[in-house]
Amino acid sequence: MEVLFESLELSEEILKAVTEMGFTKPSPIQAEAIPSLLEGRDVLGQAQTGTGKTAAFGIPALEKVDISDKRTQVLMLCPTRELAVQVTEELRRIAKYKKGLKLETVYGGDSIERQIRSLKIGAQIVVGTPGRVMDLIERKALKLDFVNYVVLDEADEMLDMGFREDIDTILESVPDNRQTVLFSATMSKPIMAIAQKFQEDPVMIKITRKEVTNENIEQTYFEVKQRAKIEVTCRLLDAYDLKQVIIFCNTKRKVDEVTEELSAKGYSVESLHGDLRQTQRNQVMAKFRSAAANILVATDVAARGIDVSGIDAVINFDLPLDEEYYVHRIGRTGRAGLTGKALTLVAKDEKFRLRQIETYTKVKIDKGVIPTFEDIVGVRKARFIAQVEEAVSSGDLDLYEDMLGMLHHTTGFTTEQIVAALVKINMGLQKSEFADHDLAWDADRRPAERGFEKRGRFEDRGGRGDERSSGRFGDRGGDRGPSRESRERDGDRPKRNDPGMVRLFVSVGRKDRVQPRDIVGAIAGEAGIPGRVIGSIDIFDAYSFVDVPERDARKVVEAMTGNTIKGKTVNIEVAR
Ligand code: ADP
Ligand code: MG
Repeated sequence: MEVLFESLELSEEILKAVTEMGFTKPSPIQAEAIPSLLEGRDVLGQAQTGTGKTAAFGIPALEKVDISDKRTQVLMLCPTRELAVQVTEELRRIAKYKKGLKLETVYGGDSIERQIRSLKIGAQIVVGTPGRVMDLIERKALKLDFVNYVVLDEADEMLDMGFREDIDTILESVPDNRQTVLFSATMSKPIMAIAQKFQEDPVMIKITRKEVTNENIEQTYFEVKQRAKIEVTCRLLDAYDLKQVIIFCNTKRKVDEVTEELSAKGYSVESLHGDLRQTQRNQVMAKFRSAAANILVATDVAARGIDVSGIDAVINFDLPLDEEYYVHRIGRTGRAGLTGKALTLVAKDEKFRLRQIETYTKVKIDKGVIPTFEDIVGVRKARFIAQVEEAVSSGDLDLYEDMLGMLHHTTGFTTEQIVAALVKINMGLQKSEFADHDLAWDADRRPAERGFEKRGRFEDRGGRGDERSSGRFGDRGGDRGPSRESRERDGDRPKRNDPGMVRLFVSVGRKDRVQPRDIVGAIAGEAGIPGRVIGSIDIFDAYSFVDVPERDARKVVEAMTGNTIKGKTVNIEVAR
């Protein structure tokens, strides 16, 4: 049976406001909680972020509050300032047509004097963090004698943050005949203890995983070598043209590392973790919301409850240690009828956890194909063409119409050269430091030939579109003797003594910490030849040998001369 807001017996004012907010029907937790709360029952609810808890406890509060009485009647406790502000803002929208209602948000890190002054004027609803609420009670600025409705939002989070005692004290100072709503993402023993102590015969609501593991979210995983995770992250960001993304890591250290590396690569990134001061958190969130930064890197706890709409993907840089976290993480995307992506990077030692998550959520996560460098180039070119189309159709090009003539005239270059140069300047595409086949840990197994979704449109038709995934480049910087590359085992690779191969001498070796992939990467990148055609590599202490096809040898020598491998300028020549 479908429940509509109209069937919940709400007042005209509230109904009008939620309709304007675009809520067409109540979310499952709202459909269950609102009637019970309107009836006066206590509610104990377990639900993830993004299930609409605010309106679930907020609408009944707004219906019950007596506007003609200025005293505080509703108290809502939230773990952080961020969440308190978010709840207040949502309530203000719902209360848009309820004239005479005063809401006050109180939290640490803001002037307590100002909050005291506002409370003196009177606020029927107070939303705040437990610590500051305690301070205000002690200062007698906040009086709870007339409170008849208390909400503990994200209660497990408040306990994690050490607010247990404050919560006890606060609840003890609210009159007994109140209603108590407790929402938590997890139902641990301490949560149950609080419920037992402070609730009376609560209606239990549990929004099951089936309802949150959202069909709007396309879930994909990628088998990625640990050290290639940043590179793959960048490729996914580029390939899917992601505009607003949250990247989750398990630790604060990882958050810092990922943030640094991505910003070094020119992405606009912000990071969020537990150690930030409140003002810093606010700045970060403001930037992310305003899209001045389109990537947010965060730990699970720091991102709890954050509601930002229009997130087009969540990237799990690490696999979460708890299956429930996975559900929380991906619930940030695919909101409000929009579709979202959950992209999970799985290192070899994380594979078993992926299986655990699949078992837990009862959803099969698809294996994705890591976009190749050519895919990225193709996507970027397609995007560029779209930009050109748009620029031409929106007109106003008079200022530049003489440019091609001028460029021809002054430089003498061909139109192809000029356009290529302009595109290069505009796209600023950097050569990938990783060979395509060096990203996945099981690259020797060819992925199901599904291909990357945007593949094909601008692919090089020269027959080298399939260099991904066919080879394996071991990291064998062994200590004894020359480290022979193992690629000769692959049947389709050029072999050392193949006719048509030329052996090149390269002036870097093991002492420069050079590995086969560095040499392949540099040569393939600089000379623009596919890594696949590069043959055997022998790395010695001070120098290395690499086999390349005879027809490419000159190109390779020219392209590499004066270039660097692992930061060291190389001399490269045909071996004697
Ligand atoms: P939670 O507290 O469970 O994380 P929120 O209350 O913050 O979730 O709601 C998440 C988002 O969903 C908010 O942007 C909110 O405006 C929106 N929302 C809530 N209820 C509905 C509804 N019934 N229909 C559409 N959107 C809703
Ligand atoms: Mg919430």
